[in-house]
Amino acid sequence: MISQLTPIFGSKTKAQEILFLLNDAKEVVRQGFYEAELPKVELFCKDNHLFLIKSKFKVLLEDKDKVFSNKGIRIDENDPRSGMFFIYLSKDEQKALFASYAELTNNHSELGRLLGYPACCIEFFCQMFNENNTNLELPLTNPWTNLSLREKDAVLLSHFPCSSECGESINLAQKYFDIIRKADAERAKELVISMNLSTATQ
Ligand SMILES: [Zn+2]
Repeated sequence: MISQLTPIFGSKTKAQEILFLLNDAKEVVRQGFYEAELPKVELFCKDNHLFLIKSKFKVLLEDKDKVFSNKGIRIDENDPRSGMFFIYLSKDEQKALFASYAELTNNHSELGRLLGYPACCIEFFCQMFNENNTNLELPLTNPWTNLSLREKDAVLLSHFPCSSECGESINLAQKYFDIIRKADAERAKELVISMNLSTATQ
């Protein structure tokens, strides 16, 4: 499953999120794509009855952490510079539209709520995030909430946990892992090894 979705969405992490969406573990998913990457994604969404809303702006790439940090310079969608569009995917058109509007208006808490992040982590983000503090990654104590391997395509969460031991984040990560395990045993095994997860807690 993950291996089929990965060529369309560009990474295993992005493919996982689509799996969570299709399994109703997430109501809205937000991902960044360049223009040339969009046709494949749009076709998949059409075939799978997912609504896709594209941001009215592009974001110039400063770092690859956009999806986590919301950081980046917004430019007009017609600007000739190469920027990344955000897309909001959902089975519910209204929720995808609300998410795009929340982002456009910098309403971090509403966006986080629509993306299914725990309230404690949304509050943490809103208090801590600013232009000079865009990476809210905290010291790692619990492997389930580990974000440090996201560049290596091994991560379960798409938000900054308020603490590595945040119970709601751990529950979410385990719920997501369970979906992956049922859909794609090989990917699950890969994550257990790379993230040092203990499946004994399952
Ligand atoms: Zn939390």
